Amino acid sequence: MDKKILCGLTVEEIFTLIEPGGFQNRHAVLIANAIYKKSISSITDFPKIPKVLIKFLDEIAIVGLYSPFASEISSDKTVKYLFTSTDGKYFETVYMPDSRRNTVCVSTQSGCRMGCPFCATGEYGFHGNLTAGDIINQVLSIQEAGSVNHVVFMGMGEPMDNLKNIMKACKVLTSEWGLTISAGNVTVSTVGKTPGVKFFLENSECNLTLSLFSPFSEERAGVIPAEKRYPAAEILEIMRYSPNMKKRRLSMAYVMMKGVNDSERHLDGLKKMLKGSGIRINLLPYHPVKGNVNVSSSAEKMQHFKHELVTSGISASVRKSRGADISAACGLLAAGMINYKTCN
Ligand code: SF4
Repeated sequence: MDKKILCGLTVEEIFTLIEPGGFQNRHAVLIANAIYKKSISSITDFPKIPKVLIKFLDEIAIVGLYSPFASEISSDKTVKYLFTSTDGKYFETVYMPDSRRNTVCVSTQSGCRMGCPFCATGEYGFHGNLTAGDIINQVLSIQEAGSVNHVVFMGMGEPMDNLKNIMKACKVLTSEWGLTISAGNVTVSTVGKTPGVKFFLENSECNLTLSLFSPFSEERAGVIPAEKRYPAAEILEIMRYSPNMKKRRLSMAYVMMKGVNDSERHLDGLKKMLKGSGIRINLLPYHPVKGNVNVSSSAEKMQHFKHELVTSGISASVRKSRGADISAACGLLAAGMINYKTCN
């Protein structure tokens, strides 16, 4: 019999697993605490748990925590990790320290099937969904795990294409019995699959950000093929009228490329699109991908966009570039697999 992997299970699922042995819900909470709060990788080391339960659990389950096999550190202290799942799928994780805000950027798939042409992950192809356990493991098994207080789903893959595992991972991250990270500190990033976005907004309190790239549908479709089926304008409407709209952060991510989407026409389009919506916009520098001749818009241009948007009543910010010297575009680690130090 294949043993069940505990990491990634909700407390209800753990209880279902141990109930046939006559154990109670409080035991399931202790097991969840041992994995998610203490990162204990062996069942026999779980504290405060009756020996009889340890024996029962050890026969039917494993914890399922595993370490990254490579890492690379940037001059700004950003660290990229490369993992390989138990079934051989490569994926990457990025840790970004920033005074009191320490963020882990997790992958949701190995590769991606959305086919965005400027993206290294898209080029890598699709190699499978990650489980909720693979996602949670990225937060628990990096060296800096103890200092993490923000999680963003912005690594490899399209989260809405792996919705079941995303929902479960969000629950484990934010629950009292789990990692106890505030839902306001968890952000899922999507290029937009309307049914998934709707479900996520109705069933989670976490933040959502939509990758926009252009306010013009035809132009966006050239860079984000999902636009043809799931237009950003339609997703924006769903975001505007979603439950808990005022309690959570809903935003657009706008990666700026010089001469491509940083004209006054684009600025006007953004103003028209976002004015009165209550959705904020984050302006991001573009990290060039091998084989793509485009470069990032200048810092001055990005500040100009921000100033114009803010004075039009739209909440806007410029995000600084992180990890630019270590292949910071998503997917470059697994796609290129170069310049690593092997993790100890
Ligand atoms: S940009 Fe995101 S959705 Fe598009 S191919 Fe890359 S990882 Fe997938």
